[in-house]
Amino acid sequence: MRGFTPRAHASRPSRSQRRCGHLAQISQQCYTTRGRENVAQALYRKWRSQTFDEVVGQEHVVRTLTSALAQGRIAHAYLFAGPRGTGKTTMARLLAKAVNCLAEDGPKPCNRCAVCQALNEGRLIDLIEIDGASNRGIDEVRTLREQVNFSPNVARYKVYIIDEVHMLTPEAFNALLKTLEEPPAHVIFILATTEVHKLPPTIISRCQRFDFRRIPLDLITQRLRLIADTEGIHAEQAALELIARSATGSMRDAISLLDQLSAYGSDSITRELVQAMLGAVSVEPLADLVDAVIHGDLKAALGTVGQLVDQGLDPRQLTAELLDYTRDLLQVKAGNPPALTAASAQTESRMRAQAEALRVDDLLRLSRLLTQASLEIKGNILPQLPLELALTEAILKPEARPAQAPQAAPTSTTRPAAPREAPKPQPVVAPQVKREPPAAPQVKREEPAVVEAAAGAPATPPATSVGVVDLDTVHRRWDEFVENLRNCNPRTQALSAQALLRSGAPMSVDGDVIVIGFPSEFHRKKISEDAPKALVEKALA
Ligand SMILES: [Zn+2]
Repeated sequence: MRGFTPRAHASRPSRSQRRCGHLAQISQQCYTTRGRENVAQALYRKWRSQTFDEVVGQEHVVRTLTSALAQGRIAHAYLFAGPRGTGKTTMARLLAKAVNCLAEDGPKPCNRCAVCQALNEGRLIDLIEIDGASNRGIDEVRTLREQVNFSPNVARYKVYIIDEVHMLTPEAFNALLKTLEEPPAHVIFILATTEVHKLPPTIISRCQRFDFRRIPLDLITQRLRLIADTEGIHAEQAALELIARSATGSMRDAISLLDQLSAYGSDSITRELVQAMLGAVSVEPLADLVDAVIHGDLKAALGTVGQLVDQGLDPRQLTAELLDYTRDLLQVKAGNPPALTAASAQTESRMRAQAEALRVDDLLRLSRLLTQASLEIKGNILPQLPLELALTEAILKPEARPAQAPQAAPTSTTRPAAPREAPKPQPVVAPQVKREPPAAPQVKREEPAVVEAAAGAPATPPATSVGVVDLDTVHRRWDEFVENLRNCNPRTQALSAQALLRSGAPMSVDGDVIVIGFPSEFHRKKISEDAPKALVEKALA
């Protein structure tokens, strides 16, 4: 065994122990004597599948393996590929047990014979588990090649499980390949990896390959319920669903989290407790953020983000959860119930209203912006900035269109079921912009807001006809104009008009009418009210 770091085998209490509660004592010992990482593994080890029937979520692998075993077809090299926590090592041990089980008849593994029991208790010396990450060099594989030639000690087959096999060096792979090409009859290799694409094709082609899938949410939840009930852990269904959801298909992560939560000292595992543990965001602020996007309310959007981050929330997590929420909205839009864990009736009706107000295009775009933001967060010196920019872009440019639309001419837009009221580019002002070159540097908005749906003509006819300017000039002078608005009277109205105009942008000039586009109906209505309109017209005059 020189040169290897075999993994510790987990001893697993018998079923009778499970039932009569000796386990509680064992767990307690674990909590006091082991590190936190191991503590969280206690339940997982205990609930590791001991028969093929107990395996959750990998039926396709179980079916193929068991029928091959029943026919006595045993390969010398298997490759188990798939995400972490989906049961690759567990399946490898089951296979090792099944090929060596001494039972005369009945299903294998029997878990009763000497070999099964030795393996379950972690003392079967013919099962060699190797961690590829810490035994990745040529020397280790050479040692392995020498060892495989010795016959098994007690079992029929010597089984080598190499976990994280993609970590091996190219030289080590070459050495391993030679063994895989001419394996001794008494040896079985089971290679497990989360990153099968890093394996040389020559290795893959030597193995019988099985791809493990992420375990579906409902299966993880069911399993957690079974564990909680059997272990006497009180847990809300909503809490278990949230745990399952956070595990993203990894049974191991889900059970480990349940384990940590049960050690928390609380009477019952509630949804709030899970949220606190995960640092999860409650649904309301997420819904608030989407509302801000719908209403084009940049102030509310950035304010909410700032507030949540100030409360200590990780911007990365916030972005991920908002993305998840958006994904759920897409489900609702498509007519499915929200997948959001334990969405209350209140949340659900709010989501329905939001799905109604948003078009599929909007949701797609928001999803893309948030996905992009989540990629940019890593390594950003201002971790919340990508999220803020994504929301700003979603609000200021509700439609993916050229930044500067030539004019606010009607264009056809796809409108799926339940369209919301189309805001129109409205406020009409009579410009009298002087046609001299601007005094200020030609500051130009990089991304002028584009009106949500370009449709309709100016509602109000121009007041007085005075001179003609072109759109370029208006664009050039726009920032300056908006900036100077603050000097108008009455001041409070001037400031609010200024804030409104900042979210808008000139769309077109038709004679002496400037059409300004706004991201939302709200802005348009506000600026079209008599007072601000008069003020802007006066300022332009
Ligand atoms: Zn057996």
